[in-house]
Amino acid sequence: MIIHDFECVIGIEVHAQLKTKTKLFCSCPTTFEAGDNENTCPVCMGMPGVLPVFNKEVLNFAIKTGLALNCELDSASVFARKNYFYPDLPKGYQISQYEKPICKEGYVDIVLADGEHKRIRIERAHLEEDAGKSTHHGNYSLVNYNRSSMPLLEIVSGPDMRSPAEAAAYVKSLRSILQFIEVCDGNLEEGSMRADCNISIRKQGDTGLGTKVELKNLNSFRFIEKALTFEFERQVDAAMSGETIIQETRLYDKDKNKTYSMRSKEDAHDYRYFPEPDVLTLTFEEALVDKIKKDLPELPLATAKRFVSDYGIPEYDAVVLTQSKALALYYESAIADTKNAKAVSNWIMTELLRELNDAKKSIEESPISAKQLAKMVELVDAGTISGKMAKDVFAEMWKTSKDPEQIIDEKGMKQVSDEDALLKIIEEVKAANPKQLEEFKSGKDKLFGFFVGQCMKASKGQANPSVLNKLLKANL
Ligand SMILES: [Zn+2]
Repeated sequence: MIIHDFECVIGIEVHAQLKTKTKLFCSCPTTFEAGDNENTCPVCMGMPGVLPVFNKEVLNFAIKTGLALNCELDSASVFARKNYFYPDLPKGYQISQYEKPICKEGYVDIVLADGEHKRIRIERAHLEEDAGKSTHHGNYSLVNYNRSSMPLLEIVSGPDMRSPAEAAAYVKSLRSILQFIEVCDGNLEEGSMRADCNISIRKQGDTGLGTKVELKNLNSFRFIEKALTFEFERQVDAAMSGETIIQETRLYDKDKNKTYSMRSKEDAHDYRYFPEPDVLTLTFEEALVDKIKKDLPELPLATAKRFVSDYGIPEYDAVVLTQSKALALYYESAIADTKNAKAVSNWIMTELLRELNDAKKSIEESPISAKQLAKMVELVDAGTISGKMAKDVFAEMWKTSKDPEQIIDEKGMKQVSDEDALLKIIEEVKAANPKQLEEFKSGKDKLFGFFVGQCMKASKGQANPSVLNKLLKANL
């Protein structure tokens, strides 16, 4: 994407909350639904004298993620203190990894809407604890420490994306990988996955990096794309009018569709990183990596490739169908009941995903089961209902969750393919329209459509179009 000879350079830091049962350095539960400050203890509240104890389950999750992201794993990674002062950080520092992260130098392959493939480098992925959450109420603020010390894996991409659409595609791919390997539920709205996007601009052909602006708290794919598009244009406008772009953190206002400055961005040296003396070097044996590698499930892109080769659907469709594990499972479960894999994919990609999106529902909450969708496709293929009727059946299934056969019975929607019944209708239509019949016979071919329409009407829309066409051709 180019604006006035400028291209944008985007790199993304994703904070993925690992789905372990307990926190990173204490045994508090990680459950989302909990009363304020219920999931806390002296360790995650940062009381004096307490000592953090590393949660082994986090190590398994980090190794799994590193393998899925094609990373090099460091069998001796080190925790560090990142110092800053804020009420939601009771210790005054966050335990993170700095110079020696557990994962580095991996990559994620993405597929764009036009079918282009692109490899996005992963520079590093490091473990860190989350902070608490402040809410501000007029002249006082409240802090909830339930999130304090939740295990996060911060995944840092290379500055490899060149358009807002690529950025969104990358976060989508990353999310589906994390969901497939079951380390993170990937919920952007609830914040279990958070994407901070760094964007700078440069003249096309330049190779250096410009001053970057960080966009924080983008909690949907749509906002990622819109905020980056706004920011790209804003930076180009600034550059064209001779302004200097400053390094800062900006927030996105979705109602105004613009970004605004939050604070100037700190450099790493502002955090006074130093090795965390209370947590040992994080070590593991190669055997653990081998074991986790052996149990690694099929990843989204591999599943998509299998869908293409096994079911003959286009690659982009396959990528959409594997954007979440639940959706891929839905698709596979539907095509177990019908041979028409392409039709099922079409119904999911157009009608079902649109309805789910409008209703803000996930595929797990779909009122239409995979079996029901497959049955409907089968009924179309068998000629029981037409494609047009199927749309009505689909709408009814969405509303009532009833089986397609039941809807067809109740609404008397069956398609009429019986030739005798259709011939009877044709004779009636011919008798009722002698003038048009005469004109048709004398060469006015256009009237064929008129007779199709009349017969369709007489059959209350239930005539099988292809059988009707064939019979009309022979009988007019
Ligand atoms: Zn705790």
